[in-house]
Amino acid sequence: MTHTDVLVIGAGPSGTIAAAIIKKAGYNVTIVEKLHFPRFVIGESLLPRCMEALDEAGFLEAVKAKGFQEKFGAKFVMTNNDICDFNFNEKHSVGYDWTWQVPRADFDKTLADECEKMGIEVLYDSEVTDIKINDDESSVTEVKMADGSTQYFQAKFIVDGSGFGRVIPRMFGLEKDSNLPSRQTLFTHYIDKNRDKVAQEPNRITVYVYNHNTWVWCIPFSNGVTSLGFVGFPDFFSTLTGTAEENIKYLVQSHPELNERFGDCEMAFEPMELKSWSATTDKFYGKGFVLTGNVTEFLDPMFSSGVTLASVSAQNAAHLVIKKLQKEAVDWETEYMQPCMQGVNVFRTFVMGWYDGDLHTIFFSKNQNEDMRKQICSVLAGYVWDDTNPFVRNHQKQVKTLAKFIKETASENATI
Ligand SMILES: Cc1cc2nc3c(=O)[nH]c(=O)nc-3n(C[C@H](O)[C@H](O)[C@H](O)COP(=O)(O)OP(=O)(O)OC[C@H]3O[C@@H](n4cnc5c(N)ncnc54)[C@H](O)[C@@H]3O)c2cc1C
Repeated sequence: MTHTDVLVIGAGPSGTIAAAIIKKAGYNVTIVEKLHFPRFVIGESLLPRCMEALDEAGFLEAVKAKGFQEKFGAKFVMTNNDICDFNFNEKHSVGYDWTWQVPRADFDKTLADECEKMGIEVLYDSEVTDIKINDDESSVTEVKMADGSTQYFQAKFIVDGSGFGRVIPRMFGLEKDSNLPSRQTLFTHYIDKNRDKVAQEPNRITVYVYNHNTWVWCIPFSNGVTSLGFVGFPDFFSTLTGTAEENIKYLVQSHPELNERFGDCEMAFEPMELKSWSATTDKFYGKGFVLTGNVTEFLDPMFSSGVTLASVSAQNAAHLVIKKLQKEAVDWETEYMQPCMQGVNVFRTFVMGWYDGDLHTIFFSKNQNEDMRKQICSVLAGYVWDDTNPFVRNHQKQVKTLAKFIKETASENATI
């Protein structure tokens, strides 16, 4: 039996950020990670708000030193060439106005290496297979180790940052259906040899919009590779009958702008398909454990909220675990679950507003109100806990009312 203060499941951003903050407070932390790092994971476009969590964890300098592509905004391009471009330095909230676009294999390994430098043990190729929580909230976790042996870890507290592994929700029956419909993606990394020729700005995510159901992410990295992914309902993909590689080539060729840039480029790997990623959990905490990152809730790739919600939940969870270890009372419902849900719900409104067309109406309207644009920009930068922003405070009402106003004004003008 190995003893540790805190056992963290998963070495993704939520696991490593929580581990580092708890370690900095003077506690022993062990991370158990199922895979060998570096490992591929999708989720490459960060939001400025996650910089605050990376900073508190002590990771910023190490990430800066990697020279990842800096990101300053998000640009939305319709097939008729209407453009809506947000620069994070125009946002309403105080805070970071830039971040990075990262190949996650390299980014996540950088964070995990920093944890090791701080004295956190990171056990790779090791899978959590069972957890028993004792009456005093301590726990015993069974781990299948890299050498095939089984080892047991006694911990005072567990942080579950296992992403789509969803270890504790699956083990303890906490899984719940998401209220978002199932969507699908086909994506790859292109060796982006035409990037300079077609004068694309690498310093932002570009979202190519077919309609409010179907869109493409284009995320350039500093190493000359660009991540390109098509997202839509399963119907959109069901008409494609080739291999994944043939299908993505076909989709690129059918879009003039993408074809000009990627039509003759090599792919760095066989395109991958993913579907039905939205997932949620009944409760983000329980006796002896807290859930962070994707284990809590994952919405949708639109607006790139995943790593930011993962980082901020890990940051908040770490503070509360430290309080708990210091024998202070913690009200997990109000101090953890509610703030997590606030962030998730603001992004849920934006994701739903995107797919029901309201945000198209707003983003591509001709006469935009400057203050509201700044407030929307703040949400897109991940500042979804800033209650001075009406698009945070009254997110649903603001989006609905603004879209309705724009539509009504447009139809009145058309009548005149
Ligand atoms: C199509 C798509 C596109 C996306 N695009 C973006 C984007 O542009 N920007 C963005 O911010 N987010 C994006 N995301 C979301 C992003 O991928 C996740 O939100 C983010 O990776 C969550 O981080 P995490 O630390 O919670 O989990 P992860 O990064 O998934 O890490 C979890 C770790 O836990 C480990 N693990 C699992 N089970 C076990 C076990 N039993 N024992 C030990 N270890 C285990 C896994 O191996 C993994 O390394 C996207 C998601 C999808 C589906």
